[in-house]
Amino acid sequence: MEDVINYLRKVRRGAMFVIEGPSGAGKGTVIKEILARDPNIKFSVSVTTRQPRYNEQNGVDYYFISDAEYDKLKEEGAFYEYVDSQYGSRYATLRSEVDRFINVGEDVVFDLDWMGARQMKEKAGQDVVTIYLLPPSIKEVQSRLEGRGTDSQEIIKKRMNLVLEKISHWNEFDYVVVNAQLEDTVEKIRRIISGERMKRVRQLDGLQTFVNDLINEAHNLQKI
Ligand code: ADP
Repeated sequence: MEDVINYLRKVRRGAMFVIEGPSGAGKGTVIKEILARDPNIKFSVSVTTRQPRYNEQNGVDYYFISDAEYDKLKEEGAFYEYVDSQYGSRYATLRSEVDRFINVGEDVVFDLDWMGARQMKEKAGQDVVTIYLLPPSIKEVQSRLEGRGTDSQEIIKKRMNLVLEKISHWNEFDYVVVNAQLEDTVEKIRRIISGERMKRVRQLDGLQTFVNDLINEAHNLQKI
């Protein structure tokens, strides 16, 4: 019985979980928790042309690349999605980074802008599941950004000015979760991931073989 379960797990197609929300909603924090609790889900490391923050590592948080390298990759069609940000920096998702996981049945989680989420849906269709994180209040966004301590007052002000515009896209997403209590949010998203893994479309190859085996077994039993 264990063999069957392991087999089905191996031939499953991975899903792409896109998490979006305004800056300060808690995307990075929630994603870290999900990754820590589930070894079958990987983080898609984006490329960016912006400078690393003091606590960021190349290849872990982002691949930090030059504008020239970015242009070259874009021209080669190497990106699933790309967004040239309002702050002048550019961000993109490498196809190669994602496909190596999806094709072997591992899921991938993304921290993307709504424009990126939209491009991803267009390019990867039903492989993509989108989740919008809403903050419990606007005041809370401000205090989370200040508490995070990574941005200057000027950047925080810019981010706050963009909150409403960003939130206006909440209804384009498959799931919406209000990130009030972190633990509660993480559990909700883990339940979304479990449900999505059970979808027939993600288990097609394995299920077809499995059902064929059931049919053969039934025929053989009838012969006896
Ligand atoms: P984002 O990636 O959406 O910009 P972060 O994950 O960096 O947001 O979170 C912003 C700040 O808010 C961080 O300091 C984080 O610790 C805090 N935070 C995230 N989720 C919660 C929550 N549910 N309750 C309280 N603080 C939170």
